[in-house]
Amino acid sequence: MTVDLNTKAKNTWCPGCTNFMILTAFKNALTELINEGKIKKDKVVVGAGIGCHGKIADYVNVNSIISLHGRVVPTMTGVKLGNPDLTAIAFSGDGDSYAEGMEHLVHASKRNSDIKLFVHNNQVFGLTTGQVTPTSKKGYKGKSTPGGSIEEPINPSLVMLSSGATFVARAYTGDMVFLMQVMKKAILHKGFAHLEIIQPCISFADTRDYFKEKVYQIDSNLPKNDLKWAMEKVQEMEKIPLGIFYEVDKPTFEEQL
Ligand code: SF4
Repeated sequence: MTVDLNTKAKNTWCPGCTNFMILTAFKNALTELINEGKIKKDKVVVGAGIGCHGKIADYVNVNSIISLHGRVVPTMTGVKLGNPDLTAIAFSGDGDSYAEGMEHLVHASKRNSDIKLFVHNNQVFGLTTGQVTPTSKKGYKGKSTPGGSIEEPINPSLVMLSSGATFVARAYTGDMVFLMQVMKKAILHKGFAHLEIIQPCISFADTRDYFKEKVYQIDSNLPKNDLKWAMEKVQEMEKIPLGIFYEVDKPTFEEQL
């Protein structure tokens, strides 16, 4: 069955932006889950923070809310508490979630709030034209660091694993089918799901060639309940692993409340 998820909003992402891959993968994931009877369109709520990623709320024809900078996680926690029947899916960026929003992220993860967080990690503040974020590479030269960033980046997946997230995954915009498959699993996960999406910003941090050579998919048949293994795996740097590193079943914040 065709599910109409298009809106009339004019898309203002830079032509060729890899956010288009996330948008397409997300629409396909929703369409398949709705057609499979696993979610209902009128029960889906998309939340977004501030940044280039945030425009996605305008481009998908489901219930949506745009939050303050860094506050999409507590906003969606409130949405889910207000109506536990909803499928609460939050979008964020690396600046939005890992800088302004980091404390919310850690606590939602620790609580196992039943929300799914898809982070467009492009390693730069793109909307404000190129400042460092917590995931920018050391040496990154942008508007706020003309001499190159002197800081090491954080590893978001490692932070989430150590904070108690019950679903931790990483995908790359260069493989839209794989991204869609991981999105579907994250949406169906009961509890806090963190999906880091490596999303090169072609205007201010074009890392497409770098990641194309570096990323690889882990064996999807490996057990997903080994926290020690997951924490070691997400720290691999020589080659960058993609996939679902960790997935366990625990009571959610809402259930316990
Ligand atoms: Fe995409 Fe970067 Fe343009 Fe933002 S600034 S729309 S992330 S290419």
